[in-house]
Amino acid sequence: MPQNPEKIQDHVELFHQPEYQQLFENKKQFENGHEPEEVQRVAEWTKGWDYREKNFAREALTVNPAKGCQPLGAIFAAVGFEGTLPFVQGSQGCVAYFRTHLTRHYKEPFSGVSSSMTEDAAVFGGLQNMIDGLANSYQLYKPKMIAVCTTCMAEVIGDDLQAFINNSKQAGSVPQDFPVPYAHTPSFVGSHITGYDNMMKGILSNLTAGHKKETSNGKINFIPGFDTYVGNNREIKRIASLFGFDYTILADNSDYLDSPNTGEFDMYPGGTKLEDAADSINAKATIALQAHSTPKTREYIEKEWKQPTSVSRPWGIKGTDEFLMKLSELSGIPIPEELEIERGRAVDAMTDSHSWIHGKRFAIYGEPDLVYSVVGFMLEMGAEPVHVLVHNSNEVFEAEMKELLASSPFGQHATVWPGKDLWHMRSLMCLLSGLLNTAFSTLKLSHVTI
Ligand code: SF4
Repeated sequence: MPQNPEKIQDHVELFHQPEYQQLFENKKQFENGHEPEEVQRVAEWTKGWDYREKNFAREALTVNPAKGCQPLGAIFAAVGFEGTLPFVQGSQGCVAYFRTHLTRHYKEPFSGVSSSMTEDAAVFGGLQNMIDGLANSYQLYKPKMIAVCTTCMAEVIGDDLQAFINNSKQAGSVPQDFPVPYAHTPSFVGSHITGYDNMMKGILSNLTAGHKKETSNGKINFIPGFDTYVGNNREIKRIASLFGFDYTILADNSDYLDSPNTGEFDMYPGGTKLEDAADSINAKATIALQAHSTPKTREYIEKEWKQPTSVSRPWGIKGTDEFLMKLSELSGIPIPEELEIERGRAVDAMTDSHSWIHGKRFAIYGEPDLVYSVVGFMLEMGAEPVHVLVHNSNEVFEAEMKELLASSPFGQHATVWPGKDLWHMRSLMCLLSGLLNTAFSTLKLSHVTI
């Protein structure tokens, strides 16, 4: 057997084992396989300018997208709320993918259910799936809230979530006053960060309805955005505690995605209390820690809650300074001395290590807020971005990214690649490494620095 339980091999190593190599060899007789020399020739060709031009002329095909789909972001947002079960109206294969993705990444059980729509639901609609699914979920898993989103299938046939949830409540699937917020999350538009935004807006509008008071509760709300590093939520809580003001994180999934091993299974560890989320409508302000995963939620908060919102991305010295000054301005409390000392240590560490980073060139891809923040920090360290690729980009991101690059002497030779995928990135990287190896220099170097 090529795979050994004592030493599980990654697929790259695994496929080089003799058994697999023989398998590939045998397949050639059915697949009109080419000689190794021809395969090698084409492989080399895909690394050059000729292939790159063809690759970048691509319009109707995405290869290896650098983004996820909407429901993935929606269920990520949902589990930040206490006792919340994500419920996906649609096909179970999609939900298996979301659960696997998140469970593998965090090495934690990620609980999310699907209404398991199949061919009959695709023809007649998924109402009965919703009625049965909500009833089963409520009875079996005893959540405090069920947050509903959709896969492409439910969106294509036009399932109306509000009407379906109302009908399910009338059918007795869940009590009338049981919270079932929802968000339509069609994956043929946007990406996982759009789904996060839609679900956050859906949950907040559901929980806060009827809770507006005359006076503020004096708290500050934080919306982390689609930030996969749960340590950041804990850091926000530490910083707020050092200041000493009251706050609510909308929503805190750090315990859910990084739960302690106590020997007891807890299906819903941690999460923002539903009553705190309901009272967030009365806070004095809301700070979003990402811009591009929260635009609809911020617009909703400003219009419906009449609450000021702002975006702070506490990355690097500049971003963190701006964040702490915003907290001081909103709370009326000076920045704690402990944080000033930590800032000094951070500046010292950056100074001590800059000789390893300064002048190093790099390419980066990812989602808009993360890329913006990492590039900002790397520019502070004197590193020089060459390619900045964001698949789920938009005009706002492009403009702010270019402004950031223009603001630093180290950002002058970078090119921003909006809407491109990882196969485009491969062309960029192959060429860059090829150019470095051969010290190649021609007219075509207009947007690559070497
Ligand atoms: S893109 Fe659509 S069909 Fe594919 S996994 Fe996401 S929701 Fe399912």
